[in-house]
This record gives sequence, C-alpha cells and structure tokens, in this order.
Amino acid sequence: MSQHGECRHLLDDLSLYLDGEASEALCAEIEQHLRDCDNCRVMVDTLGKTIYLYQHLPQPALPSAARERLYKRLDLTEFLEK
Ligand SMILES: [Zn+2]
Repeated sequence: MSQHGECRHLLDDLSLYLDGEASEALCAEIEQHLRDCDNCRVMVDTLGKTIYLYQHLPQPALPSAARERLYKRLDLTEFLEK
C-alpha cells in the first residue's frame, strides 16, 4: 500500500480545502481519500474543529508556541515551515 504518500499529498492541499479555496476537483479528490482513510478523516475532523474554534471564539489568537505544539501533535509541522 502506498497510502502514506497519498496522505502526505492530501496534507499539502488540506489548508486550501479547509479554507474553502480548493478547486472542485481537488475537493472531490480529498473527500474520496477521506472516505478511504480513517487516519486522515479523524485528522481533518479535529483540525476543522480547531480552525472553526480558532476563527469563531472571541479569544486572542493562539500564541505561536501553542500553535506549534498543536501542529506537532497533529503531525502537521510542514505547515509551520511555509
Ligand atoms: Zn490518508
């Protein structure tokens, strides 16, 4: 199985997807992958909720150290380096 490579590919596009900026084709590809991959489904669900809370709670933005910890926990450290 080459699922790991697919997951990494999905993670590359995930920020677009969660921002609602992914193309229709990309959304379909991501959603297809999420149907087949429990790991990514859980991860997207968690991350989506985190972003939702982050955007909607009347609180100061997460301090960067906390965000870094969160991203490390979610294994999304590549986003931190962009
Ligand atoms: Zn996956």
